[in-house]
Amino acid sequence: MVSSKKKVATKKTSPSLAIAKKKSRGNKDVVLVEAPIVSSYNDQIRPLLDTVDRLRNLNVMREGIHLPTIVVVGDQSSGKSSVLESLAGISLPRGQGICTRVPLVMRLQRSSSPEPEIWLEYSDKVVPTDEEHIAEAIRAATDVIAGSGKGVSDAPLTLHVKKAGVPDLTMVDLPGITRVPVNGQPENIYEQISGMIMEYIEPQESIILNVLSATVDFTTCESIRMSRKVDKTGQRTLAVVTKADMAPEGLLQKVTADDVSIVLGYVCVRNRIGEETYEEARMQEELLFKNHPVLSLIDEDIVGIPVLAQKLMLIQSSMIARCLPNIVRKINQKLDTAVLELNKLPMVMASTGEALMALMNIIGSAKESLLRILVQGDFSEYPDDQNMHCTARLADMLSQFSDNLQAKPKDVSEFLMDEIKILDECKCVGLPNFIPRSAFLAILSQHVDGIQDKPVEFINKIWDYVEVVLSSVISKHSDNFPQIQSSIKRAGRNLISKIKEQSVNRVMEIVEMEKLTDYTCSPEYMTSWTQKTGEQESFMYDVLKNGNKPDYFSMNGFGNVKISHLRKYHAHLLIPAFDMKMRITSYWNIVLRRIVDNLALYLQLSVKSLVNSQFQKEIVAEMVDPRDGRGVEKMLEESPLVASKREKLKNSIKLLKESKDAVAAIVDQNC
Ligand code: GDP
Ligand code: MG
Repeated sequence: MVSSKKKVATKKTSPSLAIAKKKSRGNKDVVLVEAPIVSSYNDQIRPLLDTVDRLRNLNVMREGIHLPTIVVVGDQSSGKSSVLESLAGISLPRGQGICTRVPLVMRLQRSSSPEPEIWLEYSDKVVPTDEEHIAEAIRAATDVIAGSGKGVSDAPLTLHVKKAGVPDLTMVDLPGITRVPVNGQPENIYEQISGMIMEYIEPQESIILNVLSATVDFTTCESIRMSRKVDKTGQRTLAVVTKADMAPEGLLQKVTADDVSIVLGYVCVRNRIGEETYEEARMQEELLFKNHPVLSLIDEDIVGIPVLAQKLMLIQSSMIARCLPNIVRKINQKLDTAVLELNKLPMVMASTGEALMALMNIIGSAKESLLRILVQGDFSEYPDDQNMHCTARLADMLSQFSDNLQAKPKDVSEFLMDEIKILDECKCVGLPNFIPRSAFLAILSQHVDGIQDKPVEFINKIWDYVEVVLSSVISKHSDNFPQIQSSIKRAGRNLISKIKEQSVNRVMEIVEMEKLTDYTCSPEYMTSWTQKTGEQESFMYDVLKNGNKPDYFSMNGFGNVKISHLRKYHAHLLIPAFDMKMRITSYWNIVLRRIVDNLALYLQLSVKSLVNSQFQKEIVAEMVDPRDGRGVEKMLEESPLVASKREKLKNSIKLLKESKDAVAAIVDQNC
């Protein structure tokens, strides 16, 4: 590129006009009217930009919605403020030392009025100012926000500049990164500032404008290190190289080598020096890049503030166009969620009557839930929580209990020995071939004693489970009344322990009944006994036979049983013992199944009664407990937790509604 081909603005031009200026290589005159591409761009992008700015003013970021933002970062004194003032054509506090101490949001707006309008906005204040007093006004506002020392604050200050021809841009200037605190700065200044910068550059919607001084090695810049942390490939980073006048040598190599990988490119600039006017500064810049023996070699597409302004506007508009549909979606989503949450909060209650009604509602809805999950087997309320699919879990426990109860116990004594012993103890003066009833009941009682703990364990396990379910249902339905939640839960626990006690008594009764009477109307008993006693003859033959005596006898339903130990007994004792063994075996199967059946029916009955009547009674009794005196009145005090939640939600909804209105027009046109 040959420097003589570049054109110099001959008139004093405002930076804004310079931006609209079209650089034409072969043409002597500078075109001062807006190029068509710029004006059509402005017509389209302006409403989008206004919308985003309105959202920014509404502080929609507070709701976690990120807006497309150009964030200016750079090491201290790299020239950030100077770049911004070059773009806006105004003076900002500038110089050595720490000047930018709060995030400064600069909203540049092109206006048709010849009179510029400039004002500051911070912490709900609007302070009008003018071109001469901007620096002063910013300093004063910074002192208000961050104190008059050298400290920093993350509360933003917004500077509105409405001026003929400035580029339509919104940018955020952040404090420069200082490694070592200067006198009067807090020790953790680096952490404070880098934290603030990270917060602004992290969102994918942010465009990072990295200001680098030509006088330094870019690879050592702290700001490059930080921007690469959040934008590794440099897709949303643009570099501005300032102070081109101070270090022209090697600048071309630096920006073409791109050692720090910046995808949006580099723009080299020369800012205002000393007391120059903006017009002088722009002219000097243009002359510098045109005439300087080294700088003039740099491609004119990447030099000068006007090029920078143009690039930024294009990047900004494409980012906005890309992000807006998503922003609209997020606003709607967050609004819906907030409204739903607010509706779920309990109303503030004014009288005991209202409180009582609310309590009845809690009880009513909890009762319905319990009915559905514990009785009807409808778990649509808890589709993913298997522990709350209660009918299935209860059935599981019952079948496990049944298996456990009917599992064959390990024989502790040898075959027929229990029966022989009992018959021996129950003998009386009488004929030998009668089985005394007392002997049968004694052996039955022995069997029952062997299993009597199992039904009690089972019923305790059932109520422990129901207690967990009950507590979780109560929590869910009384979540909005933390002040009474513990009372209701206590009532639930009391209820379960009462029911548990009753149930254990009932179960012990059921077991006790089996000891008292041997009875069944089931024909299965006789069938089974007849079938089993059919083997008696061959059994006795094997036990009593002479000659080749087998040690074992194979028997239907018992497997191989040992018989060698029986040979010492007389047949008139062995035959009734065998007969009794067959009777008890046939009967015991029926007893075990009867216990399971009984418990299953009892369980259903007591769960139903818990849900249908006891639950409500117990809670009402607890809540109007005369010892406590206050009962439901506790509900009249809105808990501070709920009150602050309500306040927060209301604010969010107001803000999101306003944001929704702000985007409505744009959405109709563009989305
Ligand atoms: P900041 O701390 O990053 O905001 O940096 P400033 O904008 O305050 O600039 C720091 C110093 O560098 C000031 O004295 C500026 O005048 C000076 N400066 C900024 N840009 C240029 C430039 O392009 N050329 C020259 N010569 N000095 C500059
Ligand atoms: Mg600054």
